[in-house]
Amino acid sequence: MPKRGAAFNAFETARRQVDIVADVLELDPGTREILKHPARELTVNFPVRMDGGDVRVFTGHRVQYNMARGPCKGGIRYHPQVTLDEVRALAAWMTWKCAVVNIPYGGAKGGIVCEPGTMSRPEVERLTRRYTTEIAPILGPERDIPAPDVNTDAQTMAWLLDTYSMQRGYSVPGVVTGKPISLGGSEGRAEATGRGCAYVIREAAKDLGLRLKDAPVAVQGFGNVGGAAATILHDEQGARIVALSDVRGGIARPDGLDPHAVEAHRRRTGSVVGFPGARPISNETLLESDVDVLVPAALENQITAENADRIRAKIVGEGANGPTSPEADRILFERGITVLPDVLANAGGVTVSYFEWAQNVQGYYWPLAEVNARLERAMVQAYREVASVARGKELPPRTAAYVVAIQRVVDAMRVRGLYP
Ligand code: NAD
Repeated sequence: MPKRGAAFNAFETARRQVDIVADVLELDPGTREILKHPARELTVNFPVRMDGGDVRVFTGHRVQYNMARGPCKGGIRYHPQVTLDEVRALAAWMTWKCAVVNIPYGGAKGGIVCEPGTMSRPEVERLTRRYTTEIAPILGPERDIPAPDVNTDAQTMAWLLDTYSMQRGYSVPGVVTGKPISLGGSEGRAEATGRGCAYVIREAAKDLGLRLKDAPVAVQGFGNVGGAAATILHDEQGARIVALSDVRGGIARPDGLDPHAVEAHRRRTGSVVGFPGARPISNETLLESDVDVLVPAALENQITAENADRIRAKIVGEGANGPTSPEADRILFERGITVLPDVLANAGGVTVSYFEWAQNVQGYYWPLAEVNARLERAMVQAYREVASVARGKELPPRTAAYVVAIQRVVDAMRVRGLYP
C-alpha cells in the first residue's frame, strides 16, 4: 500500500481505487458511496500512568470499514504517525484483502499515536490494556478481531486477550489472532504470509511456463515474510536464492544461498550481511538483479518510476504492503512483468489468522499439515480467480484483485439489502 508522508493521504488513495473498480464493475452511485465510507469509527483519548508517576493522554482509533461479509478483521499499530485517515485506508484495504482470499470477514484497522520505542514494557502494557478497555464495546469474536501490525506482536495480543477476557469473566481466545500458541495461536501462523506468497508465485510461474526449479530468485527483506518466502521457494520449489537483504544491506551468490544457513548467520550476527561466500550488494542493486522472481518483502515504495525500467524479474511477488508505486505498476505492466499484488500475495497471513479464529471458536486445534494444506487451497483458488479476471478483462493483476474483492463485498451487500 502506498507510502505515507506529509502531503500523502492514504484514504484519498483508497477512495480513488474504489472509484476505478466501481467504473469497471459499473456500480450504481449509492453502492459506490457506501464503499467509499467506513461503516464505524471509534476515536478514544485515554490516560495512562507513566513509570515516573505522571499521567499522559493518548489517542487511539478503531475503524470498522465494512462488515457485509462477516466480523471485521485487522491489525493494530503503534506509531507516532498514526492518523484517522491512515487507519481508514488500512481498514478499507483489509476489507478487500479478506475478500480476495474469500474469507468470511469484513475489514478493520486500529492504531494508537505513540512512540513505543521510548516507552517501557510496563507502560506499553498499560497503554494496551486501557486502549482495549476503551474499544472493547465494539470488539469480540463475532464483531471485530484485532491482530498485530507495526510495533505490536504476539505479546500485545496476549494483553489484549487477557484484558477483554477479564472483563467478560471467561477466556475469549477468538477475540484476537496472532497470539502465542500457548493461548490458542495457530500452528503455521508465523510463516503463513511468506508461505502464501510462495504459493501464488508458484501458480503464476506455471501460467507463464516458468520452471521454478533452479530459477534465480531475489528477496528484499529477510524478515518474517521474506525469510519464509525464500526458504519455502528454496526447499519446496528448488528455486535458487541468488540475493537476500535486510535493513543493513544485501548479499548475492549466483550459485545460490542456503536460506537456513543465512538464517543461522542472521541469528548469530543480527544481519544477513557478512554471510561467508557471498558478495555484498546494496538493496537497490538487489531489486535490479537478473532474476526470474523478485520478492520485495521489506518496505513500501521500493519499485518506483525511477527504477521500474531496470527491473529484470519476470514475476514480482509483493510480500510487503505497497512496495510498488502506481507509476511503477504501469511501467511493469507495459513491460509484461507479472506483479502479484500485495492484497493477494501477502494474504496468507490473514488467511491463517482466520484459521486461528476458526480453531478458537471450535475449540479444536489443527495440526500444521492441515493448516498448510488449507492455506495452499485458499491461495491457489484466489490466484486462479484473480488471474482469470485479469485475463478476461485485460486488467493488471492489482486491479483484477480489487475487482474480485469489491464484487464479493457488493454481492454480500446486495443480498442483505438496505436496512431498514
Ligand atoms: P519484519 O520486521 O519481520 O521484516 C522486515 C525485513 O525488512 C527485515 O529483514 C528488515 O531488516 C528489512 N528492512 C527494514 N527496512 C529496510 C530497508 N530500508 N531496506 C531493506 N530492508 C529493510 O517484517 P515482516 O512482518 O516480514 O513485514 C514485512 C512487510 O510485509 C511489511 O510491509 C508488512 O506490512 C508486510 N506484511 C507482513 C505480514 C505478516 O504476516 N508479517 C502480513 C502482510 C504483510
